Amino acid sequence: MAAAFIASYFDDLNLAAPVAGSHYQPVPLFQTSAPVVSLKAGATEVNSESYVFYGSGHTNGEVSLPLVFAGKGSDADLAKLDIKGKAVLFFLDGSTSIRNNPIIAKLRDKGVGQLIVAIEKNEDFTRMSGLIKRFSGGGLNLENPQGEEATGSFIVSPEMAGKFFNTTNEKLTKAIQSRQVSKIKLASIQYSIKQSITSVMSENILGYLEGTDKKDEVVVVTAHYDHVGISQHAEGDKINNGADDDGSGTVAVLAIAKAFAQAKKEGNGPRRSILFMTVTGEEKGLLGSEYYSEHPVYPLDKTVVDLNIDMIGRRDPQHKDSAPYVYVIGSDRLSSELHVLSERTNKTYTNLIFDYLYNAEDHPDKIYYRSDHWNFAKKNIPIVFYFDGIHEDYHKPSDEVDKIEFDLLALRAKNVFHLAWEIANRDTRLVVDKK
Ligand SMILES: [Zn+2]
Repeated sequence: MAAAFIASYFDDLNLAAPVAGSHYQPVPLFQTSAPVVSLKAGATEVNSESYVFYGSGHTNGEVSLPLVFAGKGSDADLAKLDIKGKAVLFFLDGSTSIRNNPIIAKLRDKGVGQLIVAIEKNEDFTRMSGLIKRFSGGGLNLENPQGEEATGSFIVSPEMAGKFFNTTNEKLTKAIQSRQVSKIKLASIQYSIKQSITSVMSENILGYLEGTDKKDEVVVVTAHYDHVGISQHAEGDKINNGADDDGSGTVAVLAIAKAFAQAKKEGNGPRRSILFMTVTGEEKGLLGSEYYSEHPVYPLDKTVVDLNIDMIGRRDPQHKDSAPYVYVIGSDRLSSELHVLSERTNKTYTNLIFDYLYNAEDHPDKIYYRSDHWNFAKKNIPIVFYFDGIHEDYHKPSDEVDKIEFDLLALRAKNVFHLAWEIANRDTRLVVDKK
C-alpha cells in the first residue's frame, strides 16, 4: 500500500516512470525461516537449554560426524589434530564476539565439518544464547542463502562441553593447561538443521525528473519506506508504524519532488536530472538500496550525489530544547566541495544547527554505514545523510505520527531541497577528491 501510494503520488507530479514504464523496480528477496535444529552427543539428545544454533544452514536429514576436542583453538594444539571434515569443539572466551570471530574463521579455513563452540563461563553462555534466540527469527536476503556454504555453529554451555567427550570439564581444562588436548579421545555427534527458503518480491519506487542541459547527470534523493513490522512481544499496540523511521524521510522525498516538479512546470526545471527513490528492505540490511546500486537504472558514473533522509521528524534527548538541528553525516567523506556547499546552503536558507557528532570516523554507532546512502558511498558517490538521532521511540510501536514535529520536519526537508537544487544547477559536477 505504501509503494502504491508513493507511485501514484509520483504520477500526480508527472514524474517519469523509469523502469520499463513503471515506478517499481522489482527487488527479488529470499526469506529464510528460523532454523529448526537437533543435536546429539553420541546418541544422547542434548537438552535444548544447553545449546543454541547461530547462523544459517541446512542438512539433508541427520548428519553423524566424529568430534575432535581442539582446546582453545590455538595453532599449537591444531597442529597435532586432524580436523578436516570432522566436527570440532573448542572453548571460546565469552567476552569475545562470535560474529567475525578469528578462531571460527581459522577453523572453517581448515575445512571443519561442523563447529561446536563451548562458551567458557556460564553467565556468558546465558547472555549470548538469549540474544541469539531473540534474533534468530530468520531474515531477508538478496542472495539465495542455500547457494552459500552453511555458516552456522552450535553454541553450547560450559557444562555441556565435558559431556560430549564422556568426561568432565575439569579434565578438558587440565588437558588445555598441560597441552595434552590431542589426548582427549575422539567422540561423535549427530545433528540436523532445517531452514526453509521462500522467494519474496518487493520493490523500490522511482520517480524521475529530467533535467535540461546536463540531464545525463543524476542527483538522487532517497529514503526508505519499509519498517520493522509487528512486534509479537509488545504489550498493547504491536504495530510499528515508523512515523519517524522512516515515514518522515519518505514524505520529505515526496515534498522535495513536488517542489522540483512545480519549478519545472513553471519553466525553472533543474539542469541535472533528479531521481526520487524510496527504497525497500532498509531495516533488513539496506537491501533495496544495495539492489539498486548493483542494478542501477541510471549509470552510477553519472550519479552525482545521494542525499539520504532517514528520520527527520523528531528530536533526540540531547536536543530536547535546542534550536532546530539535524545530524549531518558523510558530507565531507568523498567530496570536500559537497561539504562546503552543504554548509553554505544551510547558512543561506535554513540555518539549522548541523550536528556532526555521528560523522566522527571513530564514533562507535557507525551511523555512516547504517542507512541507504552507504550503498552509494561504497561506489564512490558522494552522499549526505540526514538524521535526528536515537530517541525513546526508536524501533518501537510508539514511533507514532502524533509525535512528529512537523515544522522541524519541513525545515529539515527544505534544507535537503536547497542542497539538491544547488547541486543540480551548478556549472560543474561535484568533485570526488577523497576515497
Ligand atoms: Zn530508518
